[in-house]
Amino acid sequence: MTEYVCSDCGQRHEPGVARWRCDCGAPLEFVNAPTGALPEIDRDRGIWAFEDLLAVNQHVTLGEGWTPLVDAPKRDVEYKLDWLFPTGSFKYRGAATTISHACELGVDRVVEDSSGNAGAAIATYAARAGLEAKIFVPADAKPGKLRAIERTGATVRTVEGDREAVTDACLDAVEAGDAWYASHAWNPAFFEGTSTLAYELAVQRDWSAPDAVVTPLGHGTLFLGAYRGFKRLATAGYIDEIPRLYGVQAAGAAPVVAQRHGEAAGAGANSLADGIQITAPAQEAAIHEAIEQSGGDALAVDADTTQAEYDRLHRHGLYTEPTCAVAPAAMDELRARGTVAPDDDVVVALTGSGLKT
Ligand SMILES: [Zn+2]
Repeated sequence: MTEYVCSDCGQRHEPGVARWRCDCGAPLEFVNAPTGALPEIDRDRGIWAFEDLLAVNQHVTLGEGWTPLVDAPKRDVEYKLDWLFPTGSFKYRGAATTISHACELGVDRVVEDSSGNAGAAIATYAARAGLEAKIFVPADAKPGKLRAIERTGATVRTVEGDREAVTDACLDAVEAGDAWYASHAWNPAFFEGTSTLAYELAVQRDWSAPDAVVTPLGHGTLFLGAYRGFKRLATAGYIDEIPRLYGVQAAGAAPVVAQRHGEAAGAGANSLADGIQITAPAQEAAIHEAIEQSGGDALAVDADTTQAEYDRLHRHGLYTEPTCAVAPAAMDELRARGTVAPDDDVVVALTGSGLKT
């Protein structure tokens, strides 16, 4: 099993049940994540068709992967319908690799904090692997998301207060030695899973990367996974260039936008986008690096714009949750600014199902 390395100070650590970040407080990455050649792609293996490019080996699967890539002619982009696999959100990608990593480590019990989708994904894959799971959620989490967690047999702990209070309660359990932190924000194994979005897109587009990829941006789970995946593909010579990555935050919970464009650019309110109410992303430094290295940006979308796009998605047969409507909703501004040109090839990730909301 590959070691961890600190993303900030460079210290190396043996993977272990108690280790979830560096002693300096920064997030961990895998040392020497593979960047080698891919064998022939076997789609029957789902995301594990890319196992040779992942730092985690398969120990659990529900056949996840290969979500459709479809035209959205009215928007002149392609949509990656990434809510369509086992847990109704893109988080299944990271849950499959995180719980596989838990199996590699011999973990019995996992904990996670989440507004719902990541919790449901971790609980589902823990159930599949026969591990115990305890999931910390906000007291106002969507009932459909809570139910998806509870029905796996996982323990649900609801926490009053803001999203950070939920993380704090979960970390108390981690620090008490209660269980392994299967965090979508912190665990390097989670980002191995979300990197498969990039690999799938490259294959689905006949080994060409799009010019730009647009995703919702909270903790950056999908955003950073996509960046790491495209970077490995570029390093291995499968694509010429990393796409420009645009992360879309909820107005009022837009720390990355505020850092880049000033407080006013991220101000406002958008509680409709419940899945990305993150004011202190665990991997904020890495998010800025991904934006700079890819030539992308971050922007914020307000509630009215999100609601209009949400309705529009549904009227076009795309039954998503409100959170991910921020990504296509940002296209108008990206085009108005000229950062996305009329002839750019753009992929927009739609990341959560309407069935849970
Ligand atoms: Zn460190």
